[in-house]
Amino acid sequence: MELEVKKDISVVIPLLNEEESLPELCAWIERVMHEHKFKYEILLIDDGSRDRSWEVISEIAKNNPNIEGIRFNRNYGKSAALHTGFEHVQGDVVITMDADLQDSPDEIPELYRMIKEEGYDLVSGWKKKRHDPISKTIPSLFFNFVTRKISGINLHDFNCGLKSYHKDVVKSIELYGEMHRYIPMITKRHGFDRIGEKVVEHRARKYGSSKFGLERFIYGFLDLLSITFVSKFKKRPMHFFGTMGTLSFFFGIIVTIGLIIDKLYKLHFKLPVREVTEQPLFFLALVAVIVGVQLFMAGFVAEMLTMNSQKKNDYIISEKISYPRKKVF
Ligand code: UDP
Ligand code: MG
Repeated sequence: MELEVKKDISVVIPLLNEEESLPELCAWIERVMHEHKFKYEILLIDDGSRDRSWEVISEIAKNNPNIEGIRFNRNYGKSAALHTGFEHVQGDVVITMDADLQDSPDEIPELYRMIKEEGYDLVSGWKKKRHDPISKTIPSLFFNFVTRKISGINLHDFNCGLKSYHKDVVKSIELYGEMHRYIPMITKRHGFDRIGEKVVEHRARKYGSSKFGLERFIYGFLDLLSITFVSKFKKRPMHFFGTMGTLSFFFGIIVTIGLIIDKLYKLHFKLPVREVTEQPLFFLALVAVIVGVQLFMAGFVAEMLTMNSQKKNDYIISEKISYPRKKVF
């Protein structure tokens, strides 16, 4: 029987076409782990690379039993790669980093220490001095500002690829779409709110090119909307749809009553009357009533769906965790 070795650190690295960086990156991580005598594993998640990344991974893994590779049959995105990595990790502390050598493995020991000794659930890197084009840094300032306001989490750099997590966190959260940009929000939503930040060194991309183009802003924005919406209303969709629907419905009804009273009044006093179909207000009221009923129904159906689909074990036991805990933000 194979004995399972307890690991201190699992490094999860999502990658897409990063063949040149991988050997250098792995050698560097190994060096750091050795110096600090960590028991570790490196999980390289090949997110559908079309270059020689997978061959390179197989080659490196041959010489180091601590390195594992997982390969997707196609490109699913960074979130999916991270999620798969999280499902497989065994270490007490999980570190995520990009494969392009923009994140420095020298940060690992301190990120590990902050989780282990200071009791953080999540420590997010902050690329204070960034080596990226301005087309990326300016929008990112805006995104971080909005996300900070919406989430109430005081981070400067939500989307930094270099982060460390307590194992319980990665085993609880689910990532999909482009949700990797908002991991701290998701983490907080699951009750892990000891979220810290560490200024990390950021380096210019040495090999290859960035995998995210301008579409990052559109998708990023839509994901921000849905994550905010889901955090607020996933459990009670009726609170949103029901309120909107009822408001719209009553607005329509009140306008209709107003129109009827107006007509009766004018008829009574023999004033000139307009056909109801000639009044814009009539159509507005009609639409409001119909939309109101629709919204209400949507809320009702969504509510029934969530009632049926809530997983039986959709909760987290907060009393079992035995690592030092500390309230941050
Ligand atoms: N990546 C990935 N799947 C994708 C896109 C990117 O695994 O669909 C990886 C990429 O190989 C890198 C990390 O995610 O390791 C960050 O990507 P990139 O460096 O292109 O982003 P940037 O630094 O430009 O924000
Ligand atoms: Mg990069």
